[in-house]
Amino acid sequence: MKKNNITIAIDGPAGSGKSTVAKRVAEALGILYLDTGAMYRAVTLKALREGILPTDEEKLAVLAGETDLAFVQAADGTYHLFMDGQDVSAEIRSAVVTRNVSAVSAVPRVREVLVKQQQIIAGQGGVVMDGRDIGTVVLPQADLKIYLTASLEERARRRWLEMKAKGFTGTKEEIAEDLKRRDAYDAGRAVSPLKPAPDSINIDTSALRIEEVVERILELSSFSFPGQEE
Ligand code: C5P
Repeated sequence: MKKNNITIAIDGPAGSGKSTVAKRVAEALGILYLDTGAMYRAVTLKALREGILPTDEEKLAVLAGETDLAFVQAADGTYHLFMDGQDVSAEIRSAVVTRNVSAVSAVPRVREVLVKQQQIIAGQGGVVMDGRDIGTVVLPQADLKIYLTASLEERARRRWLEMKAKGFTGTKEEIAEDLKRRDAYDAGRAVSPLKPAPDSINIDTSALRIEEVVERILELSSFSFPGQEE
């Protein structure tokens, strides 16, 4: 059997369903899934722990370079991120990390370090990577580039349901505010802003079920990389 080397970039705003969809596509194709947002979140968590401010670019760049990040897929299929040997999967989703991650990820030298790691991982074989700059910067030669969007209202509703299940007691409006703020920050930054690659395919997921989005991407992937079935 030929190894499946397809590379798929999935970008889009916060809460558009990227990670859920990317994971399922990777599973269906039997290739690696890489959550690049989790990497920026981990560096943010470490900076917060060490009291480094998002404005201290020098210290953040050193910190990013010194941080060991490893994804491990557990027996139940869930992905865990280990930072310097510690499982930080839950902590990187905390409100304080979410509030600070856009500022840390706007630091060009932090991006340089993480983008290099992402490219090395992609060089090892087939991968589905999700983020903000995958199609534009990390994998400009990706076989397939998807830009996932959904209305702010729908994205907030989905995120709210997800967080409510984990015990969150706030409102949908609060979530919508956070998504809006993060998107504005991510799209407005000077380096690698959130934007579709010129050759990406836009999918508005507002009225689609997850399975429908996954199906669509798998269909597109078979056109983009006909050798994958062999
Ligand atoms: O994907 P997720 O929402 O977990 O990403 C968290 C944050 O990390 C984003 O809001 C963005 O600021 C940053 N990010 C980025 N580039 C990526 C992935 C995430 O700047 N490729």
